[in-house]
Amino acid sequence: MIAIIGAGISGLTLAYRLQQQGTPYILLESSALPGGYMQSLYSEDRVLEKGPNSILADELVLRFIDELGLTDQLVIANDISKKRYVYKNGKYRTMPSGPLSLLFSSFFSFTQRIVLFKEYFNTQPYRKESTLYELISERFGKEVADYALDPFVSGVYAGNPKELLAELCFPVLGKNITAYGSILKGFIKNPPKRRVSLTFSHGLGMLIQALSDRVKEKRYSCEVESMQPHGDAWNLRLKTTQGIEELCCDQIVLALPAYEAAKIVRSFSEEWSTRFAAIEYPMVRNMHLVFKKDQLGFEAEGFGALHPSVEPLFTAGVIWSSATFNDRTPEDEVLLTCMVTEKRTPALKTMSDEQAQTAIQEEIKRLYQITGEPVYTRTELWKKGIPQYTDKMTTILKHSEALEKMNVYICSNWPHGISITDCIHRAHELAAKWKA
Ligand SMILES: Cc1cc2nc3c(=O)[nH]c(=O)nc-3n(C[C@H](O)[C@H](O)[C@H](O)COP(=O)(O)OP(=O)(O)OC[C@H]3O[C@@H](n4cnc5c(N)ncnc54)[C@H](O)[C@@H]3O)c2cc1C
Repeated sequence: MIAIIGAGISGLTLAYRLQQQGTPYILLESSALPGGYMQSLYSEDRVLEKGPNSILADELVLRFIDELGLTDQLVIANDISKKRYVYKNGKYRTMPSGPLSLLFSSFFSFTQRIVLFKEYFNTQPYRKESTLYELISERFGKEVADYALDPFVSGVYAGNPKELLAELCFPVLGKNITAYGSILKGFIKNPPKRRVSLTFSHGLGMLIQALSDRVKEKRYSCEVESMQPHGDAWNLRLKTTQGIEELCCDQIVLALPAYEAAKIVRSFSEEWSTRFAAIEYPMVRNMHLVFKKDQLGFEAEGFGALHPSVEPLFTAGVIWSSATFNDRTPEDEVLLTCMVTEKRTPALKTMSDEQAQTAIQEEIKRLYQITGEPVYTRTELWKKGIPQYTDKMTTILKHSEALEKMNVYICSNWPHGISITDCIHRAHELAAKWKA
């Protein structure tokens, strides 16, 4: 039997797939409710997300959603959301959407566009150990690294591109360089497959609920405290509402954050525990601000706006949630989902809830020329937000085969990709491994 520890999107997807193919499993979750970081709130006709806001779905994810009977609940991002803004020199400017428009848009200075163009003829070899910032600034120039890469990375990883490894975060960059000599040429010759940005009528939580309803062998409010080898099998120590229990299983799947996995594996390997604990999860604060449309002196029509680290702002960006997806709020309201990250704004770590919320509100009111107070606010603090893909992650990847030889597998947003789509893919890949 396979014990899956953690009922976030990764653990639930794997449990569902194993059940479908008849592989014995048990899903163990410490909280009373499943979902992990993926939780929606439905409050007074408003759909809010505590963590992830949307799924960038590919074919496999769309088929999976359909299989779960959720296609009629899908809410696809409006066309207007193709428009994205970046804060530059004190104001919002439209961000060019593709490599060609980057060359012709006035978003970047003329000299910067020449540097961009020259990358097409670059012959520098690829260095696997480059950080994202090194790779992009060396090939495209500092302005592109500061105003295109940095805010994008902040939005996806809540991280610092000077620390994140290009090879782990966007392997396609290295592939393009190796195949074509140039990142730009690679994107032009081999454009990335289109993905669909989506959510559901009552938020992403609907996917969690659909999976949880279908998964039969599950135990919630059941925390795994430790694991010990027992012959060829494993013994898990469980803390449940009834007390302490033991569970014997053949395989273990760690479908939980690295910092939690570090606690469980400590009982059998200090070395693995140290490796897991070394993965950094910087703090992220989300704040939902709802205003009446006529309170804004700015037309928030698009996906949202990103705030590069080189600009003196507190927030890392704002998703214009009600413009991107229909029916997030009543018609006459605007929902702005603001994000502050520890990596961009280190002061966040030492601020009280009230200080952080005030700083966010004041900045948003100024940027969007808002009069009056929000009609609704809600804030979510993730003390440990998103795993950082640095050299610490490389170490885990390097040794994961040894872990798998002991029948211990990782199936979460580390080290195989951060997005919900990545999590769903990894779960499918693992399930296929156990298909009879
Ligand atoms: C603020 C924020 C915004 C994001 N935005 C997006 C986005 O828009 N799009 C996107 O694709 N991704 C986004 N992400 C990333 C995405 O949310 C995560 O990668 C994904 O939800 C991770 O799912 P998971 O199942 O791997 O892990 P988790 O969600 O961490 O689930 C792990 C589960 O394990 C349980 N657990 C922990 N310890 C134990 C234990 N000892 N015993 C048993 N159970 C345990 C936890 O309670 C939890 O339920 C965002 C993340 C954050 C934090």
